[in-house]
Amino acid sequence: MEQLIENKLITADKAFSEWKKVPFEDRQKLIAKAAEILKNNAERFGKIITTEMNKPISQSIAEVEKSALMMNYYADAENILKPEKVDSEYKYSEIHYVPKGVILGVMPWNFPFWQVLRFAIPAILAGNTVVLKHASICFGSGNAIEDMFLETGFPKGIFQNLEVGHKEVREILEHDAVKGVSLTGSGRAGGEVASIAGLNIKKSLLELGGSDAFIVLDDADLEKAAEVGAQARLQNCGQTCVAAKRFIIDEKIEDAFLPKFIEEYKKFVPADPMDKETKISGMARPDLADDLEKQFQKALENGAEIIIPLERISDIEFNPGLIRVKEGNPILQEELFGPLGMVMIAKNDEEALQMANDIPFGLSNSVWTSDKDRQLFFIENLESGTVNINRMTSSDPRFPFGGTKASGYGTELSLLALKEFVTAKTIVGN
Ligand code: NAP
Repeated sequence: MEQLIENKLITADKAFSEWKKVPFEDRQKLIAKAAEILKNNAERFGKIITTEMNKPISQSIAEVEKSALMMNYYADAENILKPEKVDSEYKYSEIHYVPKGVILGVMPWNFPFWQVLRFAIPAILAGNTVVLKHASICFGSGNAIEDMFLETGFPKGIFQNLEVGHKEVREILEHDAVKGVSLTGSGRAGGEVASIAGLNIKKSLLELGGSDAFIVLDDADLEKAAEVGAQARLQNCGQTCVAAKRFIIDEKIEDAFLPKFIEEYKKFVPADPMDKETKISGMARPDLADDLEKQFQKALENGAEIIIPLERISDIEFNPGLIRVKEGNPILQEELFGPLGMVMIAKNDEEALQMANDIPFGLSNSVWTSDKDRQLFFIENLESGTVNINRMTSSDPRFPFGGTKASGYGTELSLLALKEFVTAKTIVGN
């Protein structure tokens, strides 16, 4: 391992030995101050995001502002890590929540500030220190976040950006100083990193891909569902883990819903990412656009029909596409991480549910119906970490976020995230 990287791991470990003694409330004060810096510099940080991965600037700024909101949530959060007394016959009968130490974050490019801070803030508030291996196109974001921590007055070594490629993750995770890893990214990367963690008996948390359903039933508000559905598929150029990727439409409203949906969809026309009016711009990298085109071809070869063609207009830009897909098409087992949506038609609620669940992933789903019983049917039976009723999926710091099945394991956000990288230490005796 490069000496510079090893030095950073040692710095993080030394910082941990002091940071774990800092009271929870003092850590919270620093987080509140960092949130302020983030909010006040949303435009500057937003430009770094857009420059690195091409997201429309208004969405980059919103990402930074949302990160600040999340940090304020943790700055005000109840301390659920206080020692807990347990009723028993013993004099000592307690649970202490002990932070684990240096935690590695392996993070993706699609929300370069949000993903990093969503993992790092609760880990740090719990008393851990963090080293980051950011996506290779996002080192500028990683460095800006590290600078933000230092400017706030966090001790050196609480958060450090390591400018390394993914081949170096193994050695870093195997290092004695590192006690766990949180990865947000593809299943392939998650599986490899979790297996390294497993072999070294270190805790891992995985936030992986998804192919969320957006189910529209015959009693839904169709105007709203059409408008929100297009946004749910196409914001961030379709490169969102919890984007709506499969639109499962009740056959009774196919003719009423689809024209509205197509109209909303066509409002997303690629434009300059630095223009604040832009709703959609290019994908993050040309090779990702190549992959999406191949998936489009694969879907067509297996019987999908074009509703709106996916048209490549530059190395990274597309006019968004929409295809009609029938069950059995192998494309349904893959994640489409770009501006291409799939439409499926269901005969009834049971079939809609069966289609929604018939994928390897289990991240989130959105159901549109005004009927309470139908809402409950989907709430109880959808296999996903989140179910949204009459709204698109968007994470909220107050609620847990995480997947089931091939979408990963572990919980981010909410108070629960504070307990991901701690040991519940039992103290019993007289
Ligand atoms: P990715 O290729 O898996 O990369 C994610 C991170 O993992 C990057 O830092 C990458 O580094 C690293 N990495 C890649 N291969 C690795 C390996 N073999 N060993 C160790 N590290 C490795 O994913 P992406 O294309 O950036 O992101 C898109 C994926 O992330 C999608 O599947 C999306 O659904 C998922 N995602 C999930 C969530 C969630 O919360 N569930 C949120 C956002 C995104 P390099 O850049 O150096 O390759």
